[in-house]
Amino acid sequence: MKAVVVGSGAGGAVAARELAINGFEVIILEAGNPFSPLTHRVSWLSSLRGSWLLKDENSIKRVFPHYGITRASQDLVILRGVTEGGCTSISCGNMVRAENGLKEIGLDLSVEFEEIEKTLTIVPIPREKWRPLTQQMYDNAKELGYAPKPTPKVDDLSKCVGCGYCEVGCISGAKWDSRRVYKDYIGKGISILTNTPVQRVLLNGNRACGVLVSNDKSTEKIDADIVVLSAGGIGTAQILRASDLPAKNNLWVDVVLTVGGISKGSRMLNEPPMTWFIKRENYILSPYFDLLSYWFHKPWKDVSVDDRVGMMIKLADSEQGSVEADGTVSKMLTPADNESLDKAKAEAKQIMETSGVEGPFVDGMIHGGHLGGTVPLTKDDVETMHPSWLPKNLWVADLSLMPHSQGLPEMLTTSALSLRVAKKIAEEKGKQRKL
Ligand SMILES: Cc1cc2nc3c(=O)[nH]c(=O)nc-3n(C[C@H](O)[C@H](O)[C@H](O)COP(=O)(O)OP(=O)(O)OC[C@H]3O[C@@H](n4cnc5c(N)ncnc54)[C@H](O)[C@@H]3O)c2cc1C
Repeated sequence: MKAVVVGSGAGGAVAARELAINGFEVIILEAGNPFSPLTHRVSWLSSLRGSWLLKDENSIKRVFPHYGITRASQDLVILRGVTEGGCTSISCGNMVRAENGLKEIGLDLSVEFEEIEKTLTIVPIPREKWRPLTQQMYDNAKELGYAPKPTPKVDDLSKCVGCGYCEVGCISGAKWDSRRVYKDYIGKGISILTNTPVQRVLLNGNRACGVLVSNDKSTEKIDADIVVLSAGGIGTAQILRASDLPAKNNLWVDVVLTVGGISKGSRMLNEPPMTWFIKRENYILSPYFDLLSYWFHKPWKDVSVDDRVGMMIKLADSEQGSVEADGTVSKMLTPADNESLDKAKAEAKQIMETSGVEGPFVDGMIHGGHLGGTVPLTKDDVETMHPSWLPKNLWVADLSLMPHSQGLPEMLTTSALSLRVAKKIAEEKGKQRKL
C-alpha cells in the first residue's frame, strides 16, 4: 500500500517511519532542498549589519535560503524551515512536552511521548557551559521567585561546541533533527524527493488518489492509496485550501519577542541558546541571543555581538489567523497578546537589570515559528485522529492538529501527535508493526 507523506519535519518524519514499520511503501515529498548549515558567511555577516543587504526580514532568505519568511501583519513575521527536516533543522534543540488543551479534548499522548523520549537523549546543558552572565541571571531570577529551570535539550553534548548558531544549522552534528528519524529506512520502505512542493491533493470523488507536485522544471501527478499532510501549520492549510478543502482560521504561532539589553563583554553568543527557562502562565522567559534581530533588525544594530544580551519571551498567542491557497498568511497580535507581552517584557527587564544588564532595552523582531491550529482536533475526532471533515484517506500529521498555542517548544508534541495518527492509519488498514 502506497502512502505519500508531505513534508519531512517533526510530523512527517515520525509518520513516514511509523508507516514504513507497518509495511507501507512511503514516499516523502519535501518542498525544500537538502539541509546544510550556514558556515563560512557567519563572521562577515556582522560587518553588513544595517546595510541594504541585511535590511529587514526579507534579507534572511537571501543569506540563508532554508528559511521561509512570510509577513503576517505589520506586527508579525512568520518563520519556518523549508528544507529537509523542516523547522527541526533550524531549532534550538529544546525538547519538552507541551500539552495545553489536550485534556479538554480527551487526548492523552503519554504512551507516544514515552515511546519517542526513549529513543532520544534529552538532557540540559550543564551550568559550566553557560556564560557567567547567564548563570548570574539564573540565580537572580531564582531569588526573585521566578523558579527558573535548566532547559531539556535533545543534543549529543559531547559534540556541542557552544557556538550559539543552532538556528542556522548545527555544524558539529550535536543537535538532533527529524532527518535522523527516517534515515535508517531510506531504501527500506521510505524514499524521499526534495525540491518537490505539493500543490494540491488530487481527489476522486470523496477519496484522495494522490497529489500534484511541481517545481521550476515540471508538474506531475503522484498516485497514492493514502495521503498524509505534514507540511506544518501553514503548508498543510495552504495545500488543503488549494485542493478546495477547508482549513480553520485558528492559526497560532507561539509569538517570540526578545528584549535586548547591553552588558559589555558578556559574549552571550558563545553558549547554546535558551539554556534555562521560566514557565509563566502563558509564556516562557529564556536567555537568548536573538541572531535574526542582531543581523536583520535595525533597532538592534548599534550594539556589538560581544555586548548584546537578550531575554526571550515565547508567548502562547490567541488562535486567530488564516492561511490562503496562495500561501498568504494574515495574523495580528490581539490586545490580550499585547497585554501579556507587556507583562513579560517588564519581568525580562527586571531579571536583566538586577544582573547588571544596562539599557536602552530594545524590542527584537516580533516573530512566530511554531505553527499550529489550522486543522485543530476536536473531542469527536480524537478516537480516530482523523478530522471528520476531510476525505477518509487524507490525514494530517503535524502541529496543525494542536488546537491551542503552547508558548513552549513543540517538536516533541508534534512527534507524539504524528505517531498517534500513524498508528491509527496502520490500525485502520489492518497493518502490523514489523520491528
Ligand atoms: C527558528 C525555530 C526554532 C525552533 N526551535 C525549537 C526548539 O528548540 N524546540 C522545539 O521543540 N521546537 C522548536 N521550533 C518549533 C518546531 O521545530 C516546530 O513546531 C515543529 O518542527 C513543527 O513540526 P511540523 O511537522 O508541524 O512542521 P515542520 O517541522 O515545519 O515541517 C513541515 C515540512 O513541510 C515542508 N512543506 C511545507 N509545504 C510543503 C509543500 N507544499 N510540499 C511539500 N513540503 C512542504 C516544509 O519544507 C517542512 O519540511 C522552532 C521553530 C523555529 C522556526
